[in-house]
Order: sequence, then C-alpha cells, then structure tokens
Amino acid sequence: MSIIMKPGASEYQIQQVVKKMKSYGVDVHISKGKYQTFLGAIGKESKIDFDTVAAMEGVERPNPIQMDVKYPLSSRAFNPDDKTVIIGGEGTKKVEIGAERPVYIAGPCAVESKYQMRKVAEYIAEIREKDSYAQYMLRGGAWKPRTNPHTFSGLEEKGIKILKEVRDEFEIPVVTEGMREAHMPIIAEHLDAIQIGARHMQAFELIKSAGKTGIPIIFKKGTDHEIEEYLQANDHIIVAGNGKGSNIVLCPRGSYTKDKKYIRNRPDLEAIPVLKNESYFPVIFDPSHSIGKREHVGKVSAAAMAMGSYGLLIEVHPNPKKAKTDPQQQVTLQEFSEIAKFCNEVHALSRKYENQ
Ligand code: PEP
Ligand code: MN
Repeated sequence: MSIIMKPGASEYQIQQVVKKMKSYGVDVHISKGKYQTFLGAIGKESKIDFDTVAAMEGVERPNPIQMDVKYPLSSRAFNPDDKTVIIGGEGTKKVEIGAERPVYIAGPCAVESKYQMRKVAEYIAEIREKDSYAQYMLRGGAWKPRTNPHTFSGLEEKGIKILKEVRDEFEIPVVTEGMREAHMPIIAEHLDAIQIGARHMQAFELIKSAGKTGIPIIFKKGTDHEIEEYLQANDHIIVAGNGKGSNIVLCPRGSYTKDKKYIRNRPDLEAIPVLKNESYFPVIFDPSHSIGKREHVGKVSAAAMAMGSYGLLIEVHPNPKKAKTDPQQQVTLQEFSEIAKFCNEVHALSRKYENQ
C-alpha cells in the first residue's frame, strides 16, 4: 500500500504524513517521482487508518494498486520512473544500464589466468573504442558455484587480483559473483559490481550482505522461481541496502526445461517485458546460461534485445573448447563481436517499436 501525494505537495506535508503513518507502527519508504511523491507502507498496513491519512493536507489518495503487491520496494507502483544503474568506479569508463545505449557484459565463465583475462579485456576494450552505440563491461568468475564438486571452482582471491589488474589496465568496469558473505566486501573494495548467481536468489542473508556494500548488484533470477518470488527477494536487498538508492540490475537466465538433451535451460525471454512492467530496475538477459549451447547464443541474444533488454551478460572465452567451466556455451571473441554488432541493430529497432 502506498499514499500518493499531490503534485507540488510541500516537504512539510510529506513529513506530516510520514509521521502519521509511522504512528500506526509501519515503516515508510519515501519515493520521489518526477511529478509526485509516493509513500510506501512497509509492515502491517491493516493497522493504518487510511481515511485519516487520506484527509491530510497534500495527500492526493491512497494507492490501491499496491494493496496486494508483495514486493512494494521493487514495484513500479512505488517508483514510477525507470532507474538507471551506473557501474564503474574510479579509473574505469563507466557504463549506464537502463539508459539509451545497450550494455554488453562479456567475459569468461571463470577467471583461469591473467593471460586469458588480458586477452578478453584487450579485445573488448578494442571493440569499445570502435563502437559508439553500445557500452562494454567485463565479467569473470573468481569463485564458481559448481554442481559437481570435483571440478574447477575458481582461482578465488587470486582471481580477484587478476580481475583488478585487468580492470585497471583497460579501464573497464568488472563484475564477479560473490558466493559467501565474506566475499562481498572484497568485491566492493576491488571491483565495480557484485553478481548474485541464480542458485543464490533466495539465500537471503547472502543477498542482504551484497546490498549492504552499497555497490551495484547484478541479480540473477533462479531457474525454478516465479517472478513474484524474484521481486520479493529483490526487496530483501533493497531493505538491507540503500532503499530507493539501491543499484540493482535484474537478470533472468533461463528456466528449468525438460529438453535437457538439447538445451541447458529454456530462455525465459518473457521475463524481460514483465519485469520492466512490474519493476523500475533495469533488466538485462544472460543468453549463455539460459540456452547453454554456443551455436544458439547469438540467436537468443538477438531475441532478448528484441524483447526490450537493456543489455546482455554473455560468456566469452579466447578458446572456448579449452575452458575449464561451461565450455559448451562460451563464444569466441570474434563471435562475440558479431553478436554485439547484430544486437545493436536489433536494439535500435526494438527502441523504435517501443517509442511508436
Ligand atoms: C555465471 O554467470 O557464471 C553463473 C554461474 O551464473 P548462474 O548463477 O546464472 O548459473
Ligand atoms: Mn558459466
């Protein structure tokens, strides 16, 4: 539930309403849109006397849309304006996710060596210089969640050191996955964004610890979870983090499929427009983990851009067949550059369609 203030309501009027709502024992999140302020009640809203609040000065009306929304802080009803998430600390060429230009977050599944990461970063930095349409970021896993415990699980802190060196050399923002609470401050100190993996979507203490760092988060959707559960989990991050100032990028990455024989997951492309409608956080898509087959990654990438994605998180390896993790789905550097070029065109068409 939220209260919509009249356009031009004064700060004093807003504070009076907040005070009143708090007196009923709920917490209040203030959300200032371009024209109007929304006051979201967090807690047992049944205790609120809405007639009293509705009669207060500066109040336009209670907002009934949110009566049954389980994720008030992620909901577009709470914040009508699209959010743009800026990623990139000092010394990097920042990217803006959710704005005009698409963003490609490319790099290997796992950090395997400095040589490997330099090769990828150098190539991406080169494309970046030639491409005035899109923006580029680097990815690479230092800690890897592995279904099979007997396989390579990342270089860990050594991987972070490599990512940091490559980041500084090529001035490129870097994201890596945090798998334990202790990883979060390490990533926040050295890199630019934390990835929360699909397996951890509902690991609430873990995702809250990421929120507490205050740095941007790329939040993957679980393979077996509903959009409603996903956005509720997102509210956990917001409560633990910066409230409305939280910088979260939503990233679907495929749903469970019975067709495992042919594909890794079923690309849940419909989640892109649904999440954009439901929430104000920017949405990107991961074609690599969703389809899981190199030969289909380009097609799924284009489809995601056609569905309105603001960007892609895509696995790229200098020699995919030799990759220590996910060799079947990583594309080559050359393939990546072709995908980015084609996706720029699809993105332009999709924007044109959306703005019609
Ligand atoms: C990854 O991006 O390398 C990864 C492990 O992702 P997910 O959590 O989507 O499986
Ligand atoms: Mn992977």
